[in-house]
Amino acid sequence: MIRVQEYRPQAFTDFTKDENVKVYQEALAKVRQEIVGKHYPLIIDGQKVDTAERMVSLNPCDTDEVVGTTAAATKEHVDQAIAGAWKAFESWKNWDMDARARILLKASAILKRRRLEACAIMSIEAGKNYAEADVEVAEAIDFLEYYARSAMKYAHFGSAETTWFEGEENGLMWIPLGVGVSISPWNFPAAIFLGMLAAPIVVGNCMVVKPADNAGVIAGFIADIMLEAGLPAGVLQFLPGHGSEIGDAMTGHPKTRFITFTGSVPVGLRIHEVAAKVQPGQKWIKRTVMELGGKDALIVDETADIENAVTSAVQSAFGFNGQKCSAMSRLIVVDDVYDEVVGKVVERAGKLTMGTGEENANVTAVISQKAFKSISEYQKVGAGEGKVLLGGEAPGEHNGKKGNYIQPTIIGDVDRNARISQEEIFGPVVAVFRAKDWQDALDIANSTVYGLTGGVCSNSRERLEEAREKFEVGNLYFNRKITGAIVGVQPFGGYNMSGTDSKAGGPDYLSNFMQLKTVTERW
Ligand code: NAD
Repeated sequence: MIRVQEYRPQAFTDFTKDENVKVYQEALAKVRQEIVGKHYPLIIDGQKVDTAERMVSLNPCDTDEVVGTTAAATKEHVDQAIAGAWKAFESWKNWDMDARARILLKASAILKRRRLEACAIMSIEAGKNYAEADVEVAEAIDFLEYYARSAMKYAHFGSAETTWFEGEENGLMWIPLGVGVSISPWNFPAAIFLGMLAAPIVVGNCMVVKPADNAGVIAGFIADIMLEAGLPAGVLQFLPGHGSEIGDAMTGHPKTRFITFTGSVPVGLRIHEVAAKVQPGQKWIKRTVMELGGKDALIVDETADIENAVTSAVQSAFGFNGQKCSAMSRLIVVDDVYDEVVGKVVERAGKLTMGTGEENANVTAVISQKAFKSISEYQKVGAGEGKVLLGGEAPGEHNGKKGNYIQPTIIGDVDRNARISQEEIFGPVVAVFRAKDWQDALDIANSTVYGLTGGVCSNSRERLEEAREKFEVGNLYFNRKITGAIVGVQPFGGYNMSGTDSKAGGPDYLSNFMQLKTVTERW
C-alpha cells in the first residue's frame, strides 16, 4: 500500500501577519504578469484543442478587465471527449489503486507549491479576498490528500465485509462505473471543480469535466496541474463551454454512465430529468450525484452567548458576499433577544469594508452581471416584504471602478412564507425572522424545501439535542458559523432539495462512483 502519513487538513494562512500579506501581494503581481490574459484551450485525449469561439472571464470587481479566456466546446467535442474517455478507461480501470492515488498526491504537491498563485487567480477572477481564497485552495489540496487515502479501502477483493459461509469463498469487489460527466459551479472554482473530478478518477473512472462559465482560468490552471501530475491522455477531458449549449449533450449522452453535479436546484433537476431518459443504445441507468442550493438558517435563542451569535451570523452571511451554498440567508431570533441580536448584527455588518479581492476587502463584487441583476431584484422584493435594516442598494461601482457591487443587506421582520424566505438569492441579502420562542424558531428553520446547512446558537443542552434530531439539514453547526466545512472533518452535502446527500470529503464519498460485484466460489 502507498506510504503516506495520516490525513491532516491543511492549515490556513494568518493574514494578520504582515509577511503573509506581503507574499500574497507578490503572488498577485506574478499572476498579473504570467496568467492574466492567458487562453486555455480544451483538452481532449491529452491534446489541446482550440475553438473559434472564446469564453471570456471578467474580473467581477472591475468588469472592464478580461482575466483570461477559454475555448468553448461544441456538441461534437462532447462526442469526441466521451469516446476518447471510454478508450482511456480500458486501461485506467486496471491501474493499481496505489498508482492512481499517487497521481493525486503528486498533484497535491504541485498545488501546495503553487498555492499562492491559485489564490491570487481567484482574487482576480472571482473576487475572493485573501482568507476566502486561502481556505478554498486549502480545501482543494485536502480533497486530493483525503481521496487518495480513502481509495485504499476499496482496493482489494474482500475489502467490503461479507459473512463467512462454510465451504465457500464469498467476497465483494468494487468496480469503477466507467465514463462520468462532472459539471461544477463558479463559487468554489478550484476546490469543488477539483474534488468532483479527483474522486471518480482515483477509483478508476474517466471524466469529462465542464467548469463553470465564469471561472475558466482557475479551472484551466487546475486541469494543467492534474495533467502535469501524470494523468494519462483521455482520463481527464477538459471541456469548458456554455452549460445551456453543451449541458444536455453531456448529461443526455447514451455513453455517459454517471453525472456528478454541483450547482443550483433548477439546473440540477433539469440534469436529473435528462439523465433519467434512456437513449437509444444506452445500457445502464445513469447515476446522478447532486449537490444543490440552500436557504440556510441560523437560530439564536435567549440562552445564547450573544457576542458569539453575532460573530457567527455576520461571518456566515457575508463571507464571500453570501455566495456560498452554506451561507446564512435566514437569521431566526427568539423574540426576547431579537432587538439586541439584530441590532448588533446590523452594526457589525455595517462596518464591513467594500472593495476588490486584491485589496482584501470584506465585501467584494458578486460574480457576474446576471447575478448582480438577480440579487438587486431580490433587494427590491425584500424591501416590500420586510424592513430594510442595512444596505438595500446595488451601486454597481466602487472607487470609480465598474463592478458588480451590492451592499450587504439585512431585512428585518420577514414572514416565513415571503419570497426572500423561500428562494435562494445567493448574494449578501439576509432575511431576519422574529420567532415567538424556541419551538417557533425550529419550525421556521424547517419551513423551506431545502436542507443544506443550519445552525443553532444556544446554551440549552435540551434544545441542542432536539435540534440534532429535528433540524432538517445535511450539515448542522452549534455555537459557531455555519460555513467552512473542512474535508474529512465535516463531510459536506445536503438533503431534501439541496441534493442527494453524497457527502463530499466524507468516508464513503468514493463509493458514489463505483459499483459492487459479489463473487462466490464453492470450495
Ligand atoms: P448553476 O446551476 O447556474 O450552474 C452550475 C453549472 O451548471 C455551470 O457549470 C453551468 O454552466 C452548468 N449548466 C447550466 N445549464 C446546464 C444544463 N442545462 N445542463 C448541464 N449543465 C448546465 O449554478 P452556479 O451559479 O454556477 O452556482 C451557484 C449554485 O450552486 C447555487 O445554487 C449554490 O447553492 C450551488 N452550490 C451548491 C453546493 C453544494 O455543495 N450543495 C456548493 C456550491 C454551490
